[in-house]
Amino acid sequence: MLCTVCGGTEFAVQPVLWPQLIDQWQLSPAEVAYVDRQQGECCVSCGATLRSIALANALRAAAGTSHMLRDFTGSVEAAQLRILELNEAGTLHSVLSQMPGHSFGAYPQVDMHALPWPDQAFDIVVHSDTLEHVANPVHALVECHRVLKPGGTLCLTVPIIVGRLTRGRAGLAKSYHGDPQQGGDDYMVHTEFGADAWCFLMEAGYSEVRIFPVAYPAALAIAARR
Ligand SMILES: [Zn+2]
Repeated sequence: MLCTVCGGTEFAVQPVLWPQLIDQWQLSPAEVAYVDRQQGECCVSCGATLRSIALANALRAAAGTSHMLRDFTGSVEAAQLRILELNEAGTLHSVLSQMPGHSFGAYPQVDMHALPWPDQAFDIVVHSDTLEHVANPVHALVECHRVLKPGGTLCLTVPIIVGRLTRGRAGLAKSYHGDPQQGGDDYMVHTEFGADAWCFLMEAGYSEVRIFPVAYPAALAIAARR
């Protein structure tokens, strides 16, 4: 396996799921194993998780580059791009921040249902494991579509359980990714995405959806073109 953020080839795994979340999410042992890889298997050199590497691949495709992401961000081509990152995209945040055309919207301070940027302002919008915490994911995706230039790309990850369909957690016990004492209801899970995650992008009006797997089904990133 190759880390397409830095070019590293050595990985280490640190499981991240805990019994209460596994129970609420109703994950099978096989699903636990691949979500742990997605969130807990990291490049030894740069710390990128499989999830970040999948997202890096979606970003590299959106930018039309075959360079490692860390090498690309300092290039002349990268300097032409206007990119909006919503919520810190894990270890990619420090890499993407190097780009001169990088804008950042902190979550939850920036409401994904009402982005404070004009129409058609960005070539790329990126968010990572944030959409599951938003009350109305299609509405948030429409907002990302609005701020993209025509032909621009939204690159995102959400945790996807591939063997089931998406379910909303309305009416179910509150479930959190992380410590609820730290993030409060902003980190409560509204939507548990499944194999139909791409349909949300179609509903939001995107013209094309591509999926970038790393060690399928451990990590998946989505690139959706306006
Ligand atoms: Zn790396």
